[in-house]
Amino acid sequence: MVQVAYAGICNSDIQRSFGGGAYHYPLIMGHEFSGAVKESFAGSRFSAGDRVVVYPLLPCHKCEACQTGDYAQCLDYDYFGSRRPGGFAASSMCRRTTSCRFLPMSICSTQL
Ligand SMILES: [Zn+2]
Ligand SMILES: [Zn+2]
Repeated sequence: MVQVAYAGICNSDIQRSFGGGAYHYPLIMGHEFSGAVKESFAGSRFSAGDRVVVYPLLPCHKCEACQTGDYAQCLDYDYFGSRRPGGFAASSMCRRTTSCRFLPMSICSTQL
């Protein structure tokens, strides 16, 4: 669970707001966000308080594209702020630790 610190507004968010370009409504948008780990699960490389940036694409890890490491071509992907609730919420759930990257102290949470 990531406590959202900052979320960007992308041009695609504007289109989803006004153009009906989302997969479903209502939708919590925001696919570009940073935050701090609020809770982590046993065995995770993350601990509560770690600053992170969240990678919005959630590949299925099962399809042919994923099996070859070509996650951008996943046939059954999920996506924060598009297909699932995004970073405009107070917190967001990352089921896989591969969705999060440590945010170095040299980078401010707003510099993403
Ligand atoms: Zn974007
Ligand atoms: Zn896939």
